[in-house]
Amino acid sequence: MSVGSLTPVDEVIRYLISRATCNAVKEVVPIKEAIDRVLAADIVSCINVPLVDNSAMDGYAINTEHLHTESGTKNGVVLPLSDRIPAGTTGRPLVPGTAARIFTGAPVPAGANAVIIQENTELVGDEVRLLKLPAAGDNIRTAGQDINEGAVILSQGRRLRAQDLGLITSVGLDRVEVYRRLKIAILSTGDELVEPPQKLKPGQIYSSNHHTLCALITQLGMLPVDLGPVADTLEATVVALQQAAQVADCILTTGGVSVGDEDHVKAAVARLGKIDLWRLAIKPGKPLAFGDVAGKPFFGLPGNPVSSFVTFMMIARPFLLKYQGCSELSLRSIYANANFTRRKGSRREYLRVRVDYDENGLGTVTDFSNQGSGIMSSISWADALAEIEVDQAVEVGDLVKVYLLS
Ligand code: AMP
Ligand code: MG
Repeated sequence: MSVGSLTPVDEVIRYLISRATCNAVKEVVPIKEAIDRVLAADIVSCINVPLVDNSAMDGYAINTEHLHTESGTKNGVVLPLSDRIPAGTTGRPLVPGTAARIFTGAPVPAGANAVIIQENTELVGDEVRLLKLPAAGDNIRTAGQDINEGAVILSQGRRLRAQDLGLITSVGLDRVEVYRRLKIAILSTGDELVEPPQKLKPGQIYSSNHHTLCALITQLGMLPVDLGPVADTLEATVVALQQAAQVADCILTTGGVSVGDEDHVKAAVARLGKIDLWRLAIKPGKPLAFGDVAGKPFFGLPGNPVSSFVTFMMIARPFLLKYQGCSELSLRSIYANANFTRRKGSRREYLRVRVDYDENGLGTVTDFSNQGSGIMSSISWADALAEIEVDQAVEVGDLVKVYLLS
């Protein structure tokens, strides 16, 4: 990786992804604990879903081929009722020339080929009048129409969503094999940092990055390990990094990666392992380090809250997901019209923006008024990050790429 000049963001992301090999231990967990976990194996269905043909509606199971015109009157065909099949039961084979009362989800009896919905019938004593004849196959959910026996329903690398848990349960599984959650250590460097509810003295600020990062990590299905603030000395930084390497699979630090006298992260990492990259063509977030500490991957994120958020989302996040075994690494992106202007720049910029949609679904991208890297209001306000390329000028109405944050 280049050290002197600025390194393009995509080059860094490609490099990081190539370095992220998942070696997480596999474990089996109950479905109710599987949300946001990453599948360690394909899930294959051992059954058809639905298992058998069943009724999509409340109505009457009939066989359209047995409807002789002579059994009809001018008000419709009249059939005697021969069975009653609620959901959860199986009926008898349909007696030719009769109808069986049937309810949604109940198996269609052998010999029937359609269900007429009850709204299109009239009960006359213990006979039913068919007011509008169905076609063969109407209102029948055929066996395997959702999932075929033997089909892969979800692939290894899938990060499980709520709907996936339902899908897995529908094929009769109550547990899944997933990768053990990665533990991600977070160290906040800076002598100025204190925690609420402590009162601020002049020169102090509240440490906030670790709360944002812990929550982002939790949302990725990983386990954050908050190791607290670290003093701005080489010794303290070395000790904290050593401790982090012992307890976690990956280490994130914030702050201390610039080139000031008080920035010790680079030297500390170099002492314990190695630093792979240093200065990025990204705004905000230029100072960013990657390396390893005692064999554990390490990210040195910038201290400014906006920069640490942006570099986490765009650079550390895809690495961590791949490291966790996940196959879907990118944030979802769309193109929408800018309603702001931007001059050309020499670094790729991630603007804090909001996307609003008009009645036709067309998106408009609005930027936050202050794009400074210390303006935390901007990341809380934004629901997306607009990616403005190196040398890209933006005029009102131009299409810009935005990454959706939720
Ligand atoms: P540094 O990269 O250490 O020079 O920090 C850059 C800026 O980010 C400084 O203004 C720091 O006070 C601020 N900063 C560093 N760490 C944090 C943190 N954990 N929470 C909020 N702001 C921070
Ligand atoms: Mg600092």
